[in-house]
Amino acid sequence: MEAQRAPVGPSTRSYVRFDTAVLALTNVRVIDGTGAAPREAHTIIVRDGRIAALGPSAGVSVPAGAQVLDLSGKSVIPGLVMVHEHLYYPVGAGTYANLTESFSRLYLAGGVTSMRTGGNMNGLAEILVAQAIARGEKPGPFIDATAPYLEGPGMGFNQVVPLRDTTHAKQLVAYWADQGATSFKAYMNISRDALRVSAREAHARGLKITGHLCSVTYREAADAGIDDLEHGFFAMNDFVPGKTPDRCMARGGAATQSMASLDPSSSDVQALFRHLVEKRVAVTSTLAIFETFTPGRPMPRGLDVLLPTLREDYERRYAATQRNTQSPYARAFPKGMAFERAFVQAGGTLIVGTDPTGGGGLVPGFSNQRALELLVEAGFTPLEALRIGTLNGATYLGRGALTGSLEVGKLADLVVLDGNPAADIAAVRNVQWVFRQGVGYDPQALIESVRGKAGLW
Ligand SMILES: [Zn+2]
Repeated sequence: MEAQRAPVGPSTRSYVRFDTAVLALTNVRVIDGTGAAPREAHTIIVRDGRIAALGPSAGVSVPAGAQVLDLSGKSVIPGLVMVHEHLYYPVGAGTYANLTESFSRLYLAGGVTSMRTGGNMNGLAEILVAQAIARGEKPGPFIDATAPYLEGPGMGFNQVVPLRDTTHAKQLVAYWADQGATSFKAYMNISRDALRVSAREAHARGLKITGHLCSVTYREAADAGIDDLEHGFFAMNDFVPGKTPDRCMARGGAATQSMASLDPSSSDVQALFRHLVEKRVAVTSTLAIFETFTPGRPMPRGLDVLLPTLREDYERRYAATQRNTQSPYARAFPKGMAFERAFVQAGGTLIVGTDPTGGGGLVPGFSNQRALELLVEAGFTPLEALRIGTLNGATYLGRGALTGSLEVGKLADLVVLDGNPAADIAAVRNVQWVFRQGVGYDPQALIESVRGKAGLW
């Protein structure tokens, strides 16, 4: 592929601090995203949007005319690749506002250079913003834009079309692929047959399908051809007592309760893990959203970007969560972490996202940094967590040859951090600069442009 740095249009320029043909990042700690140990005092040469050289500073010569950034004391990691993201937000009365403009800036500011949306409430908006970002007309990450949800009857959202039958499922997959959607997501009330037909139609077009499931079990979904399962094992219906085929029990609460009472090392669960590994089904960790349902956890960061009324709504919810001594998440949240660790130990592929919808309160960018911290709390090393949040995601999205790790020839998608996230994962909060395809953005300028407004646009 032709090497080229990302285009920068007039309305994107005010967020850009580095836009030059050749850039040298010198004396920096490199954490390459593969899980390999950090390498100190390295130099990265970025040319035309790609990593042209990477090695110990003593051995890499800085080309004449290069812009030089001395990054002593800082770390460079690959741009984050996050796979359960959203460009909408609950604003009340069963309505989800289209926040493509503010959220795409916040993702980039948080270090996310590639993302997959995990379902869509706004039809064409997300597909069109993904295309505008690719042309440089708006700041944001690369977006794998998922079509509106593939959902059966029963949800009652006025922004989601209920599937009538398998013919309808096939028509919708074809329609949205033709409009430019590059990914699909099945939702909680889909039937096994509609899922199977949707997966077949998506795969025929070279596209993937994931699911936040409830009516369909993880084993059934694997057999129907799904590529990925959302929400770790919190939505696993396989062991729900009295589960009726094609029916969602207790709006998903039964699945979470059932997981909380299971042991991930039990033979039934291990057999399910083996089946998912055999069928090459990935699992997406979304611990950041479940943390907001769990009492005794810290307030999410970044809430002041929200419209003040939405921030206040969430602060009331947060207070109510703290008072809820009966919350099933008190037990389910740590158990969900244990399941994700056990799945990886069984050979499973874990990828990560955040799901900034739910009851609100999760703010893109900030939420992605939190997701990495929670993987470490779940028992992964910081280097493993970073790999899950970079190379694993890129590989799943079919972009592993382009991004997801720091390697000569790959796109210069990288994040400069103050501190060392291999020693303390919280350093992922200290984003200094975010480079997407060789263009460097100022995270503070992106966040300031949104402060107090996320909720309007
Ligand atoms: Zn979601």
